Amino acid sequence: MPDEKKKKIVKTIKVDVDKCNGCRACEVACSALHAAPPYSSNNPARSRIRIIREPLKDIYVPVYAGEQAKAECLGRDKYVIDGKEYEECAFCRASCPSRDLFKEPDSGLPLKCDMCECDPTLEKPLCVQWCLVNALTYEEREEEAEEEPRPEDVEVSVEALVDKYGLEKVLDTMDRLSLSKKG
Ligand code: SF4
Ligand code: SF4
Repeated sequence: MPDEKKKKIVKTIKVDVDKCNGCRACEVACSALHAAPPYSSNNPARSRIRIIREPLKDIYVPVYAGEQAKAECLGRDKYVIDGKEYEECAFCRASCPSRDLFKEPDSGLPLKCDMCECDPTLEKPLCVQWCLVNALTYEEREEEAEEEPRPEDVEVSVEALVDKYGLEKVLDTMDRLSLSKKG
C-alpha cells in the first residue's frame, strides 16, 4: 500500500498596500499579544509587522518579519509601482544589520512573525482582526508536508544562536516567547 503523505496547513496573509492607511493598529495588536504577560503592554518596536510609512507620498507598506539576514545585502532594491517610488528595502522582511526593524528592543534578537500561534488558538491572526480596512486578509490551504527536521539539525541551530548571542539572552528571549504563547 503506498505511503500516505502527511498534510500541513499553509497560512498566508495577503497584503493590499493600496488599502493600508498607516494607522498602525496592527503593530499595536501584535506587540500586545507578544508582551509578557500577553496584553500587559504594547510597544510597536516588538511587533512582527511594521508599516513603512511615507505619508507625503501616500505610501504605507505593511511588512511581516521573516527570516534573519546575518549580513547586509551588497545591492539594494528600489521599486516604482503606479508612479510611487518606494524607499530602498521597503518590501524586505528580514531582520538585518542595516536597519532597526524586527529586532527585540531589549536583547537585539531577531523577531519573526509566528502567525499568532498561541493557546487558545486565534480564529485569525490579531493583526488581521485589527485591520479595519481589510488591507490584510488571512487565508489557509492544505499542502503535502515536507520531511520533519532531524533533531540533530535543530540542536545545531540552537547552538549557533547561543554562540552568537550568549546563553543568557537566548534563554531570556525563549522564556518571553513561551510566556506570550501561553496567553
Ligand atoms: S500574524 Fe500575529 S505574529 Fe504575525 S505579525 Fe500578525 S499579529 Fe504579529
Ligand atoms: S491595521 Fe491595516 S490599515 Fe492600519 S497600518 Fe496595519 S495594515 Fe495598514
